[in-house]
Order: sequence, then C-alpha cells, then structure tokens
Amino acid sequence: MSTESIYQKVVEQNQNEPEFHQAVLEVFESLSPVLDKHPEYRSAKILERVAEPERVILFRVPWVDDKGEIQVNKGYRIEMNSAIGPYKGGLRFHPTVNLSILKFLAFEQVFKNALTTLPMGGGKGGSNFDPKGKSDNEVMAFTQSFMTELCKHIGANTDIPAGDIGVGGREIGFMFGQYKRIRNEFVGVLTGKGAGWGGSLIRPQATGYGQVYFAEEMLKANGKSLKDKVCLVSGSGNVAQYATEKALDLGAKVITVSDSGGFILDEEGIDREKLAFIQEIKNVRRGRIKEYADKYPKAIYTAVDSSLDHNPLWDVKADVALPSATQNEINKQDAQNLVKNGVFVVSEGANMPTVPEGVNVFLDAKVLYGPGKAANAGGVAVSGLEMSQNSLRLSWTREEVDGRLLNIMKAIHKQAFDAAEAYGTPGNYVNGANIAGFLKVANAMLDMGCV
Ligand code: NDP
Repeated sequence: MSTESIYQKVVEQNQNEPEFHQAVLEVFESLSPVLDKHPEYRSAKILERVAEPERVILFRVPWVDDKGEIQVNKGYRIEMNSAIGPYKGGLRFHPTVNLSILKFLAFEQVFKNALTTLPMGGGKGGSNFDPKGKSDNEVMAFTQSFMTELCKHIGANTDIPAGDIGVGGREIGFMFGQYKRIRNEFVGVLTGKGAGWGGSLIRPQATGYGQVYFAEEMLKANGKSLKDKVCLVSGSGNVAQYATEKALDLGAKVITVSDSGGFILDEEGIDREKLAFIQEIKNVRRGRIKEYADKYPKAIYTAVDSSLDHNPLWDVKADVALPSATQNEINKQDAQNLVKNGVFVVSEGANMPTVPEGVNVFLDAKVLYGPGKAANAGGVAVSGLEMSQNSLRLSWTREEVDGRLLNIMKAIHKQAFDAAEAYGTPGNYVNGANIAGFLKVANAMLDMGCV
C-alpha cells in the first residue's frame, strides 16, 4: 500500500482527530526515501503499526470541589509504542485536552524519545481539567482521583508519566503521594519529582535549556552563536522560563514572553531580576503576564485579539524565535512575519507549535528550523536520566546532569543533521529528526516480529 493510502486509512479510522492527522502526515512525508531504500519496513507494515496506539486508556475522574459539589473530568493515557523501552511522556491538564491532541503528542513522543539515545518508548496522557483558578485543595482532590485510576496502568518498568502543560512540581507531588499510598511502593513511576524525594536536578530546567542548546548547535554548524542575538519567546510557563534563562546565560537578549491572555514586549531585554518576577507571577501567585507591564512600565502589553489573522508577538524584529507555549501557535502569516522581520533561527520548545504551511515558509527561506521533536527533547532526556538515577538509587550533581543534557542535545542535533544529509535533504531538520527517530523504532519493531 502506498504511503498516501496508509495515511488516508489513518484519517478514516481516526475521525475528528485533526492534530493527530497533522503529526502523522508530517512524519510520513519525511519517510519516502527511507521506504524506497528499505522495502522491509513496508512488508512488515511498520507505518500502519506505528500510527496505531498499543493501548488507549480512558477513564472518569470524579472529585469534590471547595463548595462540596461533585465535578467530573475525563482522564486519558495513550500508550503509543514500547518497542525501545517503557512508555514515557507527560501528562497535560488543560481544558482543550482531547483524544486528538494526546494522540498527536504521544505519536511525536515516540520519535523524540528515540532521538534522545535513551531506552524509552512513547506515551502521553492528561485530562480536560483546568487548574486555572482552582485552590491547592481542589488540585489535590482532582489529582488524587486521577491517580487512583491511572495507578492501575503505569509502573516504573511499564509506563512512567511526567509533567506537561498544567502539570508541574505541585501536581507531580500530589500524584506521586497517591501512587505510593495505593501501590505501597516507592519507585520511579513519575519523573519531575522533587529533588528531595527522587527527582533529578535540572529536570525543571531541561526542556528550555535543551531548546536553547539545540539553537546554539544549529548556529554553530553555520559558524555562528547566540551571543548578542535578539530572541522572541512565547509562553511564560516551565519551558519559556528556562529557555529565557539559558538564552541569557549564552549572551542573548530575550524581549518577549506571553500567556494565553497576551504578550509583553520589553525592548530593554528581560534580565535575571525580571525573569525572577515572571517566575513569581507564574509559579507562586499563578497570575497573569500582564502584571509584568504594571511593574516595568517601559514594557508594552498587548492583549490577544482573536479577530487578527496573525499573532503580533511574531511580528517583532528579532534574530531567533523560541516558541514555548502550545501547538499551532505559529500560522503561515506568523511564519512570513518572522522571516520578514529577520528571524533566521527557530527552535521549538512547544510541541508542534508551527502549522505545516508555516514550516514550509521556514524551510523555503532557509531558516535554521529545529522542530520540537528534536529541539524540546531535553525534557524527556533528563526524565530518562531521572529514571537512571532512581534505578541506581543515587543522585547526580547539577553539573553532571547539565553536562549529560548538553551532550544529548548535541547527539540529537548530529543525528538529525546527518540523517537529513544521508537521505538527500541537507539542512532539513524536520526530515532528519523524523528519519533518525523512525529508523531506531522501526528496526526494533522488525527485530520483535508481529507484536
Ligand atoms: P506550562 O503549563 O508551564 O506553560 C504553558 C504556557 O503556554 C503558559 O504561559 C500558558 O499560558 C501558555 N499556553 C498554554 N496553552 C495556550 C494556548 N492555547 N494559547 C496561548 N497560550 C497558551 O507548560 P510547559 O511550559 O510545560 O509546556 C509548554 C509547551 O512545551 C507545550 O507545548 C508542551 O507540550 C511543551 N513541552 C513541555 C515539556 C516539559 O518538560 N514541560 C517537554 C517538552 C515539550 P496560560 O498561563 O495563560 O495558560
């Protein structure tokens, strides 16, 4: 069957899942030269199998809010592929969560995890629960109910969830406590744990740091560096905060951050003191990014205007874009605006933040474009290192973990760079990342037969 027919079948059999279709199409489109060279993948039906989750778990999450009223949310875990290791991938708590979004994330995770050089399969999960405006008590009630069901399906050698949008240290703590209480075992079943109870140093920083290391590697391959470059960051959560910090470490200037309400533009640059204020707004007070402009009046706040056909955050003069909020946050017009304004490096911290037409704009303009699958793999890589430390029952130093993270990001860059060249599209990190990740998973699936 042709790749196009296999894709059509995926669409037919997974209706109303546009994000999942988008992620599958992007990978399939990169694979033509691989399938021409290796017909054995076709006869073993590898494409048909990688696009079908090994298991999908869907469950009810009832909990009681502060007013004593019962609330009901949906819980999900997609166990996508375990060919090279136990399922591994984050949990997302956001009102937009549905099967399509989690399947796209789980699918991407399979190839991303393969690129990290560590033995991890791919999965993803979460809930349509909205943590915004909820008290700590309500978040605990929800997460305990969520874990009461999830704990039947996960385990340190089976499936090891982590954080994602809406799931940070607080939520991982509540979920780990509930898992331990029900299963009566203290094991590395979640990553992103607190440093005092099995967590790895640098895990909170890892995705943002890795995203910036990846940008630096792409620049280095072209004889340049991040020093003195002007960067646009979107989001102001976990990934955005640490992308900003590492960009500062490497001598760059970050002039924007955002949340779902709008963005701030600070032409003077976000320094460490201002970054600490963002962290206080977002991690402690759980407030809105608008407050930044109240405290630093030279910064300009622009509220989201849904009547626009573009996001004005991406229409600011700069050198580097570090999208770190959510999927499909850069449309075709945004990509054109970025190129027009001089942006020549895009390193994605978010998963699939650029629509396919936008990716084509970057590739046509020869932008150094690092897709999320490669550029944001630092988070799951350090999760893998957290699992290693848990198995060894010891903790590595900050320097040790950061050094390993840097080496992993270099290795991911090299694999994507080399695969792009070997299969005829030099400089195309989309093809390179998809091909290198796919080969590792596909070869393991061939070795294991029809399972
Ligand atoms: P957080 O919840 O910490 O932060 C998310 C940020 O993005 C917030 O500023 C949030 O604004 C904004 N945002 C979320 N949804 C939307 C939306 N629909 N429209 C506009 N803004 C939005 O999440 P993370 O930083 O962990 O995740 C950010 C991205 O990075 C996601 O795509 C995630 O999948 C990806 N990622 C995360 C990893 C990790 O280790 N955490 C690993 C790899 C990828 P608001 O506060 O208003 O909601």
